[in-house]
Amino acid sequence: SAQKLAQSERESAWREMAKQVAHEIKNPLTPLKLGLQLLEKSWKDKDPKFDQKFERFSKSFVEQIESLSSIASEFSAFAKMPDTRLEKMDVFDILTQAVVVYKQTENIKINYQAPEDPFKVSADRDQLLRCFNNLLKNAIEAIPQGRDGVIEIAHMITNGAILLSIKDNGNGIPANLREKIFEPNFTTKSSGTGLGLAFVKNSIENAGGKVWFETVIGEGTTFYISLPEVA
Ligand code: ADP
Ligand code: MG
Repeated sequence: SAQKLAQSERESAWREMAKQVAHEIKNPLTPLKLGLQLLEKSWKDKDPKFDQKFERFSKSFVEQIESLSSIASEFSAFAKMPDTRLEKMDVFDILTQAVVVYKQTENIKINYQAPEDPFKVSADRDQLLRCFNNLLKNAIEAIPQGRDGVIEIAHMITNGAILLSIKDNGNGIPANLREKIFEPNFTTKSSGTGLGLAFVKNSIENAGGKVWFETVIGEGTTFYISLPEVA
């Protein structure tokens, strides 16, 4: 049945995700282990350079551990996906909550005016909020240092659906990466997890919608979200 098919697709998506997360966890564990073994040895050997070595290693240990902990927290957000709880809510209400937080970012201007009339969608409140947070965070991170960031949020209502757009003036997405960005764990950032857009896609699809983007190198990227209206 269609339900069984969806179930087995979900299972294989999970297996794939688990495999990739395991890989991301193993990456920082190897240098951590080797580094600790090396330090232990130079401590036992009373190596005169022990203090210097210790300082250098401990900085990198902290970085590796931070990377592990951000993988863990984004993964647990992803893991919460199956218990989606759909409720009827005003999409602008959730969008406003996300914008308010990111409006505080230095050198970034967010142009967004919530309309007076609500637009009701059926979505999981936490997922939808996290989804807008992820898109805004990515938009901000795409803007190179020294450029004034401008993020434009617009919407269009057409028969029974809303089209939201979040446009940044960042660096754009290179052609060879465009089909990978929604994949779990795909990231071009040194401390990224690559789970943000995978999460966005899941959340929007759970609410019966779609997400896609347009991008121009050097000019910026626009993410589009369409969501059906509920009575
Ligand atoms: P992360 O932000 O942890 O890297 P995401 O899944 O949120 O993971 O994004 C995956 C990748 O997609 C990013 O590393 C970046 O290369 C690209 N990307 C996402 N949003 C944008 C954007 N607005 N502008 C340019 N590149 C983007
Ligand atoms: Mg992200």
